[in-house]
Amino acid sequence: MQIAKNVHWITRAKGSYVYLVLGDEPVLIDTGMPNRGPDILEELRELGIRPQDIAHIVLTHHDVDHIGNAKHLKALSGATLWAPERDVPYIHGAAPRPGIKRAIASLVRHERPEVDRIYQAGQTVGGLEVIETPGHTPGHVSFRYQDILFPGDLVMTRRGKIVPSPRFLAWDHRVLMQSIDSVRRLTFDWVCPAHGQPVRRTPLF
Ligand SMILES: [Zn+2]
Repeated sequence: MQIAKNVHWITRAKGSYVYLVLGDEPVLIDTGMPNRGPDILEELRELGIRPQDIAHIVLTHHDVDHIGNAKHLKALSGATLWAPERDVPYIHGAAPRPGIKRAIASLVRHERPEVDRIYQAGQTVGGLEVIETPGHTPGHVSFRYQDILFPGDLVMTRRGKIVPSPRFLAWDHRVLMQSIDSVRRLTFDWVCPAHGQPVRRTPLF
């Protein structure tokens, strides 16, 4: 579903949404829960996008509901896979995920993708600005494209309201709240989260 010029909400990635941004180069933001690859590709095809058109796949963080189809989609597209440096050990399986994530990841079968590049402070990827927003995970990042914020799991939306992502899932809830404070100072009009529907920014956020 198109939500703004060049910005598509991939709704068939139910449970953990994926976004397609057709900026300088086509970018896929996150890859959804494991085994949703064919559904995501089908929706892209309906938008006239072939896998090989995708230049970059940008991960907000290491959780399995965000990296679930990264290996599959990277292999089909040949896209460059990006991730935050501090989350790479968890993606590659070089370190056990912290806290409750360890148990969740062990219950959810997923294929580990190989990360190609890590974000540098202040950089853009395919026209998306990378914003460091740690807390949900050590390296979690958000993205901004024009007037749209893609907060990953920094915040979620529930019945049209923007709320912090759950404390029990946070690597460090205090750091997460600090990240929310710093993002509040940025200019944007729309919030497109992984969990919950895209909403117009409210004065509280
Ligand atoms: Zn998530």
